[in-house]
Amino acid sequence: MNPNSVGRKIKISGTVQGVGFRPFVYAQALRFNLTGWVRNTSLGVEIHACGGLPALEAFTAALQHDLPPLARIDQFEKQTCPPGNFSQFEIIASQAGAGDFVPITPDIAICDDCQRELFDPADRRFGYPFINCTNCGPRFSIIQDIPYDRPHTTMSGFEMCPNCRAEYENPLDRRFHAQPIACPQCGPHVWLELPSVDPLISGKESIAAARNLIKAGKILAIKGLGGFHLACDAANPQAVDTLRLRKQRSDKPFGLMAFDLETIERHCHLSDEETRLLSSRERPIVLLERRNGSSVAAEAAPGQPTLGVMLAYTPLHLLLLQPENGYSDLWVMTSGNLSEEPIAYQDEEARQRLSPLADGFLMHNRPIHMRVDDSVARIAEHQPFLIRRSRGFAPQPIRLPFESPPLFAAGAELKNTFCLARKQYAFLSHHIGDLQNYETLAAYEAAIPHFERLFRIQPRGLVCDLHPDYLATRYARQRSEDQQLELLQVQHHHAHLAACLADNDWNSDEAVIGLCFDGTGYGTDGAIWGGEVLLGNYRQAQRKVHLAYVPQPGGDLAVHKPARMALAHLWQAGLDWEPDLPSVQALCAEERTVLRSQLDHKLNTPQTSSMGRLFDAASSLLGVCQKVTYEGQAAIWLENAADPAENGHYDLEIEAGIVNPGPLWSALIADWRAGVSLPRLSARFHNSLAHLAAKACRVIRQETDVGVVALSGGVWQNRLLLERSLHHLRQDGFKVLLHQQAPTNDGGVSLGQIMIAIANGIGG
Ligand code: ZN
Ligand code: ZN
Ligand code: FE
Repeated sequence: MNPNSVGRKIKISGTVQGVGFRPFVYAQALRFNLTGWVRNTSLGVEIHACGGLPALEAFTAALQHDLPPLARIDQFEKQTCPPGNFSQFEIIASQAGAGDFVPITPDIAICDDCQRELFDPADRRFGYPFINCTNCGPRFSIIQDIPYDRPHTTMSGFEMCPNCRAEYENPLDRRFHAQPIACPQCGPHVWLELPSVDPLISGKESIAAARNLIKAGKILAIKGLGGFHLACDAANPQAVDTLRLRKQRSDKPFGLMAFDLETIERHCHLSDEETRLLSSRERPIVLLERRNGSSVAAEAAPGQPTLGVMLAYTPLHLLLLQPENGYSDLWVMTSGNLSEEPIAYQDEEARQRLSPLADGFLMHNRPIHMRVDDSVARIAEHQPFLIRRSRGFAPQPIRLPFESPPLFAAGAELKNTFCLARKQYAFLSHHIGDLQNYETLAAYEAAIPHFERLFRIQPRGLVCDLHPDYLATRYARQRSEDQQLELLQVQHHHAHLAACLADNDWNSDEAVIGLCFDGTGYGTDGAIWGGEVLLGNYRQAQRKVHLAYVPQPGGDLAVHKPARMALAHLWQAGLDWEPDLPSVQALCAEERTVLRSQLDHKLNTPQTSSMGRLFDAASSLLGVCQKVTYEGQAAIWLENAADPAENGHYDLEIEAGIVNPGPLWSALIADWRAGVSLPRLSARFHNSLAHLAAKACRVIRQETDVGVVALSGGVWQNRLLLERSLHHLRQDGFKVLLHQQAPTNDGGVSLGQIMIAIANGIGG
């Protein structure tokens, strides 16, 4: 042993397992001529390294700066210790955990090295649809239990061939301990199932046959990473239309998939930020501005100037979408389900549920353990915003500003996610969906124990929404009874506010202003809230300003027929239902009579302060959208109609904390009658609300001196409103907090619920 040798113990926590971290440490130790060992522990990775001091310093620096692509360091501790008597550096056996957890990586898009091998005729995995390595491939969707080792994944049924095993065991190989390692000799394979064709077509021929079917205008169910997609040629209007009919989905845009960025660039305008987001290892669907002259069928995204596009993220998808003359370079890849049901992910279930929808099935035999939908994101303000946080992101932990006891948060009703927390981490689930049907509830109830097992979390307290009828609330109540666990019910918009704070690592109990603009949330007075300005912290929130209540005739019915909402607004404002108004024309005489008597007699007319419904009403009043078939449609179409060059607005007053929208309606109608164009009217409507948002914050600042504003709620997905509001707020000197890791819509609510539970000592 070198007499100048010193020892150093290093403990690293974060995302450091299953991402090639130990081989990375091993390679760095060889590089600097160190001896000692590295091993996985229940908390991360532990290293004992020995050598000269300069070498140790260089090694320590390299560990923090040249990380493998999927690794993330949360904590790095080093400590001097006596040098051990080692002759070499080794990767030694893991130390068994004392019931602790390590983060599990999400499913990751194919890496550049694997993609190169996939298309290299000399490589032994040439054209193999399941190629992967330590830097890429399936993770979360195939993990059945921890520790993350092959026997605990859906790859356990495949025995490695000698070649794969040699790579798996070589610390200097890119596939060292890559759990899903596979090759054509030993791994999963694909085949095509067609009605009336026997035997099945398998291997490379099945991929070629699938490409031909898409080319011929057929619809295929394709088993992918986290579930089945339904695919067709995006440039074939008949095929897209047929898919819409079969899926019973009238207007909601379909997700598209492309082979490469050049293809996307032919159809959409791309900024640098959008290019980065598209090609990130998470590969979400990104909402992009569509180019004039793109060959994508109008039916793919009716009424939309945008397209939702993702890059192919698995080797199978790359093989399917390979560019070739006469073949489509852009496919519809929508989730394999009927309408709003959860995405199909098991073979037999998919055959049953999707055979009325698909002309054939491209199957494979690598089982999916956890279904995961594609994530959806967009760029606004030059940064990515998640609209749906799922594949590629979940279950990546979110670091909390405070330590949490073991807690479970049930989430909201629409776009549900649940959240588990423990110590400094929150595990926000993948997108579960709208908890309104049995299948989604079943998926919810199956995913919860899976998360609890993977992350070793036994909740000691529960938290859910205030709404008595949410299925998530009922689940939490039942569980609280069954397991004798403390349960906290929190107001929906307080949860939005807290989610935005946590998302910004807000670690104080100082109050902030919460601009919670949303569709629906149960209020503390039983009304439907959604246009709320709160003042609060994690522990509690007060309602300072809100939109005046209007009746929402027929409850949910008014959501699907925005004209009902528009006429209710006019009725509330004492404005006539003049026969030429688009909202009046959208309803027949009989419907209007019933509606009026409903309003006059307060029959089934819950009170609402919803900002989402205000957008619906404006969208109908201006004749933009009279039938809503997916959440937010009327508001999205109204935003699309706006002329961004228009700066006019209408002033709205705040009286005793209440905003009466009446003057907004009379002004809009007057301008409409004066012949002001729709794009300008729509922009003025947006501008008025942006001015109102800033005004409400100024009023509260005057009274309380609070200068920090958090923006949360689904309405903030409206980019025009967001950008205009930010402009005014910043001009007025406010510090503005926006969502970063969690969606601003109800997909982020469960994270906020967790924070409120921590602050109120639940489970502590
Ligand atoms: Zn790879
Ligand atoms: Zn093999
Ligand atoms: Fe909400």
